Amino acid sequence: MSEPAYVGRFAPSPTGPLHFGSLVTALAGYLRARSAKGEWLVRIDDIDPPRQPPGAVDSILRTLERFGLHWDRSVFYQYTHLSAHRRARDVLLANALAYYCVCSRRALADHPSYEGTCRGRREPPAERSSVRVQVDHTPIAIADPVQGESHWDLAAAGGDFVIWRVEDLPAYHLAAVVDDADMGVTEIVRGADLHAAAPRQRHLQVLLNRPPTVYVHLPVAVDHAGQKLSKQQRAPPLDLFPVPAMLPAALIWLGYDIPSSLHGALPGELLPWAIAHWDLARVPRRATLVAPVLAL
Ligand code: GLU
Repeated sequence: MSEPAYVGRFAPSPTGPLHFGSLVTALAGYLRARSAKGEWLVRIDDIDPPRQPPGAVDSILRTLERFGLHWDRSVFYQYTHLSAHRRARDVLLANALAYYCVCSRRALADHPSYEGTCRGRREPPAERSSVRVQVDHTPIAIADPVQGESHWDLAAAGGDFVIWRVEDLPAYHLAAVVDDADMGVTEIVRGADLHAAAPRQRHLQVLLNRPPTVYVHLPVAVDHAGQKLSKQQRAPPLDLFPVPAMLPAALIWLGYDIPSSLHGALPGELLPWAIAHWDLARVPRRATLVAPVLAL
């Protein structure tokens, strides 16, 4: 059997229940994959155990099911792939593309970009250390169908970044790049709050010889105060609202005009219609208020 041309994924961190912002991300990824006749996968980004309340994974998966967002294959848990992340870290270290860093967070607090203090530390030090990958001023171009083309200078924007944390766990960028490649992901749909992650992840894809993915960053959903809906801001969990109200609200947010014959329809009816009418060009380009939802 040949590989499907399109593989997308939704990769929540299990730090709490899904909210409206996560629903639009999941929904847009699902619709894009299904309309491209590709696969849509779910990955749980569980590499930060202290921030993961018990029951969060179950709640996320149950919510996706309630909304009819059924995924392909089995759920991919990052935590069970630590050896792949470690191997990638070791390849970067062995090729002198990464180094151990003993700088404390406090020592770095006043520096917008890491200045490479520990560059050259090739051997694991006795004290607690992280691992950083080297970056330079070569511009990295990211072509994003929603955000447009952007150019990034990683040396100016943050400098060498952490790929392995002092807690002896992979950092998000490394784990995401390794796992996206292992899952065969071709396109990543996520919120624009991760737009600046794209050049870092592209840099790692190049250094690790992994295929480049396409990035689609949706504008963030904001509340009346212009704040991004997030778990930290205590956005209301989706489970508080009925699916027949929230699914259309998310579709409208994504630019759909739902015919009156489908008002009140359940996911089984609404989603096939939405797949058939998916159009990325209608997705808003800027942060968008979720007024109808918050008013519920
Ligand atoms: N796990 C990340 C989050 O929940 C998203 C990672 C990604 O889509 O690359 O914010």
